[in-house]
Amino acid sequence: MADKGFNSFQIAQHQFDQVAEYLGLDQPTRDLLRYPIREYHFAIPVRMDDGSVRVFRGFRVQHNDSRGPCKGGIRFHPQETVDTVRALAMWMTWKCAVVDIPLGGGKGGVICDPHNLSSREQESVCRGWVRQVAKNVGPISDVPAPDVMTNAQHMLWMLDEFETIRGGHHPGFITGKPVNMGGSLGRTEATGYGVVFTLREALRELNIRPQDTEASVQGFGNVAQYAIQLYTQLGGRVVAVSCWDQQDQTSYTFRRKDGVELDRLMSITDRFGGINKGKAKELGYEILDGGAWIEQDVDVLIPAALENQVTGENVGKISKRVKIVAEGANGPTTPDADAALKERGIFMIPDFLANAGGVTCSYFEQVQSNMNYFWEKDEVLGKLDVKMTSAYLAVSELARKQKLYMRDAAYVIAISRVAQACRDRGWV
Ligand code: NAD
Repeated sequence: MADKGFNSFQIAQHQFDQVAEYLGLDQPTRDLLRYPIREYHFAIPVRMDDGSVRVFRGFRVQHNDSRGPCKGGIRFHPQETVDTVRALAMWMTWKCAVVDIPLGGGKGGVICDPHNLSSREQESVCRGWVRQVAKNVGPISDVPAPDVMTNAQHMLWMLDEFETIRGGHHPGFITGKPVNMGGSLGRTEATGYGVVFTLREALRELNIRPQDTEASVQGFGNVAQYAIQLYTQLGGRVVAVSCWDQQDQTSYTFRRKDGVELDRLMSITDRFGGINKGKAKELGYEILDGGAWIEQDVDVLIPAALENQVTGENVGKISKRVKIVAEGANGPTTPDADAALKERGIFMIPDFLANAGGVTCSYFEQVQSNMNYFWEKDEVLGKLDVKMTSAYLAVSELARKQKLYMRDAAYVIAISRVAQACRDRGWV
């Protein structure tokens, strides 16, 4: 989406340039990886319910597929821009590479607001999107998934259109499908659990027992809820969570110093991750302002809501006790706040490593779909733990050896793997 004042693609390129410099990448490799390898821009004409025709703009950006088929979500948003899609596609390349799954990076989008479209109109947008790119995507070339404002139903319509065009069943074309229609068990838990698998390893490295730690979490949606579940199982205590209040159009922090009780709190939370204030008070929560989550006297902060939440303005409010920031959300820390965290020596588990559990499980979904054989949930989550833990260990080892900040180490690993694949293939 267009964000006032900055262009995500330029930021993504700037991050890449810095690592390319550090790695001493040659010019052709830089020229290749600074831009998407392919992109498709197209029109999607849709017959609306009132009989008129509206033409929507759609995109699919394939940043790099040297390590495997492109992978990345499709977003429906009224302010979608191709530059945002380009940036997200590039970040997907690095995310898949850092967890070492054999996939590249892609992202798609349609400029539309599904809130203003009937279900039939949304179905037409989904089918129209596939019709335009069916030749250029698929289980062995580019595998889409849900993202902002798209869900399992959208994926199923897209799959059906793809299978109609191609003929036959190709469930590995798309992930995020409903579980009874080729989706994977464990996908709901995957991102939040993945955050905590990496957090568990970071605590081990810092010689801290999880049961001696407390955390504060921004957000109480899918990622936050499952992160809290696993962290609590490991013995940690979450003392505060924050969320957006739709009615008041502001955010609040809910604090319970004895630790939030996940199930009870979830029972008073709507499906958008908004907590009922009145009922929370009855359960003994203090209701604080939205920014209070970051000021808590805890050991671990988990931003798991939105981008640009830890900023130059509030980074100074982080308690001296905080030792680890585990980024559940994408891009929650602005570059100036990141520099301040680095300076303070706070241990960072960067977003594209910490929250890669989602795409890793999507990869498992694709594998299961291609085999047409589905694993039990324990098997999925066990494999997820192995992948996330080894990804974490590789990054932390490099960070230690080369005295790098964890975010920089994660970029160095991801970009070198992709650059190596391009060289090995003889592209550069
Ligand atoms: P979600 O919609 O389920 O939950 C978002 C939560 O953030 C809600 O509780 C909402 O109330 C809260 N929130 C919104 N604005 C807020 C604000 N200003 N202050 C405090 N809280 C606020 O979303 P999710 O799936 O949990 O995703 C959270 C983040 O993680 C996003 O950045 C997303 O891109 C990223 N992520 C998600 C996945 C996934 O698999 N779900 C994977 C990778 C990354």
